[in-house]
Amino acid sequence: MQLKINGKTLELTQGDITSQETDAIVNAANSGLRGGAGVDGAIHRAGGPEIMKESRLLGGCSTGSACITTAGKLKAKYVIHAVGPVWRGGESGEPQLLASAYRKSLEIALEKGLGSISFPSISTGAYRYPLDDAAAIAIATVKKHLAGETPLKNVVFVLFNEAAFKAYQRALSS
Ligand code: ADP
Repeated sequence: MQLKINGKTLELTQGDITSQETDAIVNAANSGLRGGAGVDGAIHRAGGPEIMKESRLLGGCSTGSACITTAGKLKAKYVIHAVGPVWRGGESGEPQLLASAYRKSLEIALEKGLGSISFPSISTGAYRYPLDDAAAIAIATVKKHLAGETPLKNVVFVLFNEAAFKAYQRALSS
């Protein structure tokens, strides 16, 4: 599923983000950049130890922000480590922090002059952010970025399962 915005493409696909060939893939990281389960574990396993070596040098990344490393053995050139919020009921700034994690990732891509980027569904696994709410924020934040001046020509959401894919489809078509 695709949407054209301002001559650029926003695309939804179901699969494993580690095999994406976009310039950057985004990791749903924790603030310590220590690696973990879920998409974080998959990226470090597929990319090899170089990504963790660079992550350690960064010394952490606060919730709602994003940090960049190279991508080791992955096909992508960079991994952007975005730190989404843990869901605590929605009254602890979660929507703003989630939007900020996406926005900061897009800003890093812009600073680096990247043409393409892939996102997972940040915060909706171990961090328990409700899927439909997270999808709406993710899609709205990317749409807003693509409507402005950006070198990004292609933004892909790589959804790991059907439930996530359907939630992002609903968000994209609403
Ligand atoms: P968080 O801690 O931010 O919630 P998780 O990694 O637990 O991060 O989950 C975020 C999302 O990433 C979930 O929807 C999960 O299904 C998905 N996911 C897990 N592995 C992969 C993968 N290899 N590629 C893309 N998405 C993945």
